[in-house]
Amino acid sequence: MKPRTTPVHTDFLGATQAARLVAQVGVAACLAGLADAIEEDFARWPDFEKSARIAHHSPGGVIELMPVSDALDYAFKYVNGHPDNADRDLPTVMAFGALADVATGLPVFLSDLTLATALRTAATSALAARRLARPGCRSMALIGAGSQSEFQALAFTHLLGVERLRIFDIDVQAMRKLVDNLGHAGIAAQRITCCASSAEALEGADIVTTVTAAKHRACVIADADVRPGTHINAVGGDCPGKTELPLALLRRARIFVEFTPQTRVEGELQQLPADAPVTELWQVINGQAPGRGHDTEITLFDSVGFALEDYSALRWLRALAHDTGLMQSIDLVPALADPRDLYRLVREAGQAERGFG
Ligand code: NAD
Repeated sequence: MKPRTTPVHTDFLGATQAARLVAQVGVAACLAGLADAIEEDFARWPDFEKSARIAHHSPGGVIELMPVSDALDYAFKYVNGHPDNADRDLPTVMAFGALADVATGLPVFLSDLTLATALRTAATSALAARRLARPGCRSMALIGAGSQSEFQALAFTHLLGVERLRIFDIDVQAMRKLVDNLGHAGIAAQRITCCASSAEALEGADIVTTVTAAKHRACVIADADVRPGTHINAVGGDCPGKTELPLALLRRARIFVEFTPQTRVEGELQQLPADAPVTELWQVINGQAPGRGHDTEITLFDSVGFALEDYSALRWLRALAHDTGLMQSIDLVPALADPRDLYRLVREAGQAERGFG
């Protein structure tokens, strides 16, 4: 029998350890690190085998699988979106994912990705806004104060220099939670205005982030309230039949997306004809397409979340979990003494059960 040369263990980062990692590193540093990692990976876009995610819809939500790979690493994420989950004491969005070695197929890392999803989404939003928003933007309207909202607020504060936030949520309690959490993160309440409507939140805003959850065609802001020159970061409309923006606004805007085939089905873009012109973010990052054209243009980042952002997040998390000593190890797949004798596992486990192990 050949001695086995490849160690078989899988690195593991559960939700508790992932939260400790983010607390140790700091949310601002996490957002900056992730934005850099995502930018680097978007800059080598042609290296990746890409596909739109696979979505299974039900009346109350969606469960999605998001795969992507390059020559070395394969990554996938499992993520759900169930807008009414709060009624069952569950989050709207929960996620986990894995990295595998392309050469052998060995799963090398399994991780919670719930926090990482919020972080990578906000980091990608800020990355897009850096190239698409007018220089010197200082005021952002934030529509939706749920789980993702703190991360969006912090990304725009730390990575873009936004100083004033104008927030609106149909749930006043959610706005209180956001103000309280941002206070904990160092954003003083004086910098945040809680508004009574989205129209009020949009007054004077340079950037508008929409991050609401409802499984239908919503219009969470009105076209008439959006000033020329605004950058819109539309995050909440991310599956078929679930949108946030009025059609008239889409018609006024230049639209930027992550991966066109996915966004046409899932994004705000589903409201427009199938040949509506769009620019992919990687093209702007690589200088192959222009970003904002002029100061009065309305730019729209139609974010739906793409697998490559999770590939970046998984590799970034794995390195940090090792560095911080938070990584655990699990036997996700078996270590076989003889790789062609799987049955031996059962025999050995049986012996162990009977006390001969
Ligand atoms: P959540 O359920 O925690 O929060 C949603 C908030 O939106 C709630 O506070 C709710 O009261 C508020 N809301 C609903 N309708 C509103 C309206 N018309 N005006 C103002 N507020 C309204 O959800 P979450 O985890 O924060 O996620 C928000 C959305 O972002 C979801 O739709 C989710 O699918 C999406 N999302 C997108 C990405 C991406 O990459 N684009 C990533 C993660 C989540």
